[in-house]
Amino acid sequence: MTGQSCVLLKYGELTLKGRNRGRFEKHLLRNVERTVSRPDGERVRIQRRQGVLVLRSALPERELLDRARDVIGISVVQPAVPVPRTPDDVAAAAVRLVRERGLEGRFAVRARRRTKDFPLTSEELAAHVGDRVRRELGWPVDLDHPEVEILVEVDWREVFVSVERYRGQGGLPVGASGRALVLLSGGFDSPVAAYRAMRRGLRCDFVHFTGAPFTGPSSTYKAYAHVRELDRFQGGSRLHVIPIGAAQRRLAGAGAGEAQTVAHRRLMLRTADALARECGAQALVTGDSLGQVASQTLSNLATVERSSDLPLLRPLLAWDKDEIIAEARRIGTADIARLPDEDCCSLLTPPHPATRTTHERLAAVERRAGVDDLVPELLAKSQLFALGNADGPNATDGAADTGTILTSAATDTAGG
Ligand code: ATP
Ligand code: MG
Repeated sequence: MTGQSCVLLKYGELTLKGRNRGRFEKHLLRNVERTVSRPDGERVRIQRRQGVLVLRSALPERELLDRARDVIGISVVQPAVPVPRTPDDVAAAAVRLVRERGLEGRFAVRARRRTKDFPLTSEELAAHVGDRVRRELGWPVDLDHPEVEILVEVDWREVFVSVERYRGQGGLPVGASGRALVLLSGGFDSPVAAYRAMRRGLRCDFVHFTGAPFTGPSSTYKAYAHVRELDRFQGGSRLHVIPIGAAQRRLAGAGAGEAQTVAHRRLMLRTADALARECGAQALVTGDSLGQVASQTLSNLATVERSSDLPLLRPLLAWDKDEIIAEARRIGTADIARLPDEDCCSLLTPPHPATRTTHERLAAVERRAGVDDLVPELLAKSQLFALGNADGPNATDGAADTGTILTSAATDTAGG
């Protein structure tokens, strides 16, 4: 085992879900493989134990730990040293480990056995290790409020000794709740909404609408950068990019007027609905937050959601902007959101956007604009970017880092 980093992952909420457990574990294991082992990187070995996954790799411990801490569905991430199954080896390893980590102070040993075929009970083992630490280092025992906690876990072929544990992402394993399509802009809200959807077990595909040909590629760069960050939490992400500028003009030409932004939202949602059905997503996700901007009044949210029959999930509906930004900072998308871009939403924005709209009025605008034909045209122009380890149709390993376009129905010129 020497030269190998070892990290234990403990399941969170998963343990509560009696009958679904097997299915959840399957998703979790696959996600760990996808997110922890990089296609071009150092191999990570994953072993499955009762309620625990054991990762071993030649990667530096810090790196392995950082990757493991991104896995959704894991509640505790614990670096560990595997040692032979004898009480003396365990005690020696504990002393070595606290010295190595420069720890000091009142301590407690917590021992547990995942298998009972061990010469000592958990209490006896904890006492044995505690004696040794007290003798060699002279620290006092404090079982209630220790400064140093030594964790000992007896396993089948070895014993794991740890002195640190970190909180994981928590939540349900990605995929356990199904698949969703996220409407992703370059802003703060939708990436956070995507992350929260993943945390409830939804594997997320992404769609971004650009104002092309009337805007440049900056918003696509931002959306792609967001997906790269979010991919740490699920692996194998796919981003569809659809140029919607010309269609927006058609809505304006059909007299959308002050309801232009709402008409545009409805078109995005309608197109996303059709795309979701193609990629097997059972729900749509947006970063809407009630009342944040004119297009997010209750009236406008209601008018917009009439344009899709799929469940429309809005994980941030009741979040304040500062809460959203704090979460964006935590998951690593805030700096991307801050970059300037040309958003398709600012094309044709009316000077006084309507805060109250009706489905009937918007439906009339859409008939005049010929929306039924617009949707298939938009889908035909969509481009797919797949990040490493993507599975499913059109996916190829390792495409991510080059930003390979895998399909391009519009031009037929894409490489990939
Ligand atoms: P965000 O910070 O996510 O851009 P926002 O506060 O700017 O959100 P809006 O611009 O009103 O809010 O957009 C509401 C939601 O509509 C977004 O959270 C996102 O889900 C979706 N959306 C907006 N613009 C786009 C786009 N260009 N492509 C895909 N989805 C979009
Ligand atoms: Mg926006």
